[in-house]
Formats: sequence, C-alpha cells, structure tokens
Amino acid sequence: MRCSVPYCRSEASTRGDISFFQYPKPNDDLLEVWIHNCGTKHLSEKLLEKNHLKVCSNHFADSMFLNPTTKNRLVWNAIPTVFNDEIISERLRLAKRQMTHNKKKRRNEKNCRGQ
Ligand SMILES: [Zn+2]
Repeated sequence: MRCSVPYCRSEASTRGDISFFQYPKPNDDLLEVWIHNCGTKHLSEKLLEKNHLKVCSNHFADSMFLNPTTKNRLVWNAIPTVFNDEIISERLRLAKRQMTHNKKKRRNEKNCRGQ
C-alpha cells in the first residue's frame, strides 16, 4: 500500500509505524478539503469511482488522532495538513513548470495566428 499524496514516500512497512486512511466519502464536504490539501485533484475521478486511495498518517497533526500514540484512528472531522519540505518544494517546482509551459504555448498560438 502506498500513500496517494504526490512525492510522499510512505509505504506500508513491516514496522507498522504508519497508518493509512481512506478519503472521506464522496458525499462528505471534507473530501474536497482532503483532495485540495493533498494535491490529488488529478485522482479525484478515481477516488469517486472506487475509494481505494489512502493518505498516510504522516499528513495529520497529532490533534487529528483519537489516539496520538498509535495514530491509527482519526477524529471524524480530521483533515490532512502536514506536508514535508520535499513534498512542498516538488509541488512548487511542478507549478512553476506548468506556468512556463502555458506561457510558451500561448506565445506559439499568437505566432500561428500572425502568420
Ligand atoms: Zn503520505
């Protein structure tokens, strides 16, 4: 099992120190928040189809757990808010790349029309 958060390297380990949690149900308002925070919009269709994607316990603050020591049960309204530097910097890098890509595309379109 792997975490669905992009660039998160958590995998189910034999040590069992990481728990995995299902996304909220499709009719739950929290689902959108989870998808937004986790940066998994591209997975949202898959999520609605079949709720088999998980988020690992690394993305939840201690206060989100019913049992902060074992961290395998979330409070009902828990949302993932913890993302490490690697995840954040990879996201920024990707966003920047997409921005330059779009700019280039627009420029090309203008050139085409001009000809
Ligand atoms: Zn994770």
